[in-house]
Formats: sequence, C-alpha cells, structure tokens
Amino acid sequence: MQTSKDLHKTPPVFGQLSFDNHEEVVFFNDKETGLKAIVGIHNSVLGPALGGTRMWNYKTEWEALNDVLRLSRGMTYKAAVSGLNQGGGKAVIIGDSKTQKTDVFMRKFGEFIHSLGGKYLTAEDMGMETRDMDIIREVTPYVTGISESKGGSGNPSPFTALGVYMGMKGAAKHQFGTDNLAGKKILVQGIGHVGEILVDYLSKEGAIITINDIDEQALEHISKKYNTKIQRGSDIYGLDVDIYAPCAMGATLNDYSISQLKAKVIVGAANNQLENENIHAKFLQKKGIIYAPDFLVNAGGIINIYREVANMTKAEAVTRTENIYHTTQEILQKAESQNISTHKAAFDMAQNRIDQRKLENK
Ligand code: NAD
Repeated sequence: MQTSKDLHKTPPVFGQLSFDNHEEVVFFNDKETGLKAIVGIHNSVLGPALGGTRMWNYKTEWEALNDVLRLSRGMTYKAAVSGLNQGGGKAVIIGDSKTQKTDVFMRKFGEFIHSLGGKYLTAEDMGMETRDMDIIREVTPYVTGISESKGGSGNPSPFTALGVYMGMKGAAKHQFGTDNLAGKKILVQGIGHVGEILVDYLSKEGAIITINDIDEQALEHISKKYNTKIQRGSDIYGLDVDIYAPCAMGATLNDYSISQLKAKVIVGAANNQLENENIHAKFLQKKGIIYAPDFLVNAGGIINIYREVANMTKAEAVTRTENIYHTTQEILQKAESQNISTHKAAFDMAQNRIDQRKLENK
C-alpha cells in the first residue's frame, strides 16, 4: 500500500517532464459515468486554447497527465506558427473509447468543458469522432469539429493531408530545386485517414510510392487502389527513397532511424516525430536531411476547425492550408541562413508571434 512517505517520491504536477509553465491543468471526475478527464491549457496569449480530446487506455494517470501536458504545448506552437488567433490546449480522457463511450458519458464531458467558460475549446483527436463532438455540442458551444450537416467543419483529415502535401512540395522545392513530385520515390508510413489522402495526391502527381502499415488489409487495399509498392515490417528507414512521410505514430525520428535514413526530405502528419526535439533536430541538420516540422505541416486540420471559431469560409481554410507551402519554404530558408535546425526555426517563429502579442496586450 502507498504510504504518505511514498507520495513524496512521485513527481508533483509542476515537476512533470512535460510541464512547460502551463497556465491551467484541470482534473475532472464523475463517479456515475466513470469519466476521468484532464484538460491542459498551455498558453492563451493568442486566444482561447484550442485542441482535441484524446481518449486512450493510459496505463497510469501520470502517463495521461504527461500526454495532456505535451500535447497542449504542441497546440500552442501549431496555432502560433499557422497564424491562428488561438492558444494551445488539449484534453485527455482515461479509458477505452470502444467500450466506455456512451452518449451520457460524452454529455458529462461536455458539461465539464462548459464549466471552463470558453477558455478551452475542444475538438476530435484519437478515440473521438465527429459524432462525439455533436453530442458535446448539445451541452456547450465550446466545441469544434462538429458535422458539416450541423453547420460545423466536419472531418479534419482531408485538410491535414492537403497541408502535408503542400509542405512536402515546399520542402522538395528547397531540397531538390523543384516542387514537382513526379518520379520522386516516397515512403508513406501509415495509410489511415491522412495517409490515404496523401497517397491519393502523390499518385495523381506521378510519384513512385511505397506504403508501410501494420494493417495488412489496408496495405493490400491501398496498394491496389493507387498502384503502390508495399514495404512490410518496421525496418523501413534505410529504404532507397527521396522522401519519408511519417503518418502513423510519433518518435520515429530517433538515433536508430536517422542513422539509417536515405531520404533527403521528411514531411509527414504524425505528431511529435522527433524523439528528442533538440538532439534529433540537430542530428537531421548534420546529415543534411530537410525535416519540415510536424507542427507546421500537419496544421491543416486545426486550420479547418478554426473556421468554426473565426467564421471563415471553407475556401479560406483551403487557401490558408495551401499556404503551408510558403511557410515551409520560409522556415527552411531561415534555418539554412541562421545555421539552426528547422525545428528551432519554426519554434522561434511561433514564439516570436506569442511574445509580440504579449507586448501588444500590455
Ligand atoms: P489513423 O489512425 O487513421 O491512421 C494511422 C495509421 O497508422 C493506421 O492505418 C495504423 O494501422 C497505422 N499504424 C499504426 N501503428 C503503426 C506502425 N507501428 N507502423 C506502421 N503503421 C502504423 O490516424 P490519422 O488520422 O491518419 O493520423 C495519422 C497521424 O497524424 C497520427 O499521428 C495523428 O496524431 C496525426 N495527425 C492527424 C490529424 C488528422 O487530421 N487526422 C491532424 C494532425 C495530426
């Protein structure tokens, strides 16, 4: 049994590895439905915190807390670098989205979100669907990503894929001198909601695509549909390709993978691709591999949900997402001229925007 002495051994909230001066961390519990959720508001200088809710069977509460701290921080920089007037926030629900998620459960969660008074606006993330956002909407206006039929922005994945595609073209232009991807050998890891649409763009442009996934059925289906090659298993990083697109899980850019990589450009949808932001961003720079920062190129989804908040049209959201092409080039040029990693260049650009607004607000 844990004694009061043991409690001192566990790191307190503010001592968590991912704690980065978050403004607010709120814990919610509902005995009736079994709902346990944490909302992290990292920074609200640019506007109310916006970010999705992730429902996951976390092994421990510490794991859930770290995730919400890490993800909400990421949202701050994603919004800032994309020019949105939103802060960074995220919610996690501890549990199994397949068995525990009922309408009553989601409504209760919506009430929790409502109690924050609009400081945090939620949206979809892993374990959540547009339908869940519609249920939350019944009890609070502080939710985005609701169905198009209900006046919302719908599924964000096509926008995310468009942003990744535009980022890839921008990075290709920087590295290869042309943004034409015809004939370029491209490895797409993860062919889910975003990956498949990316494959569609790339195949229309005439790229030579190899796909990788753990879902055998998806591999067969997508490879037939788009006439791609398949590379099974996890030993994929040494593949002879020009571009690597991580569209599955995070932390695939690490000591092992980077030392294997033959690709000269990395652009993908996955969040937190760098296992260690400083070490691995510099390692890529040293190897001359152009890495388009994930929080920059995968922002299409948040740009799309932002239109519900900012009263933007769908066409405006498309234009803003397409603009990732130019922002990517701007950041890559800045990194080159200042001899810093591309991650740092993007991070600095986002931080400057926040600092500037802070000064204006004084
Ligand atoms: P998804 O769940 O639809 O697809 C992920 C795919 O990756 C699945 O096909 C899955 O089988 C595969 N996969 C899982 N583990 C793998 C492994 N070890 N090796 C190879 N493949 C593996 O997810 P998605 O919505 O397409 O999102 C993809 C990534 O992009 C995620 O990291 C997500 O957080 C990030 N992202 C998505 C959006 C969006 O709008 N959907 C926005 C921003 C970031």
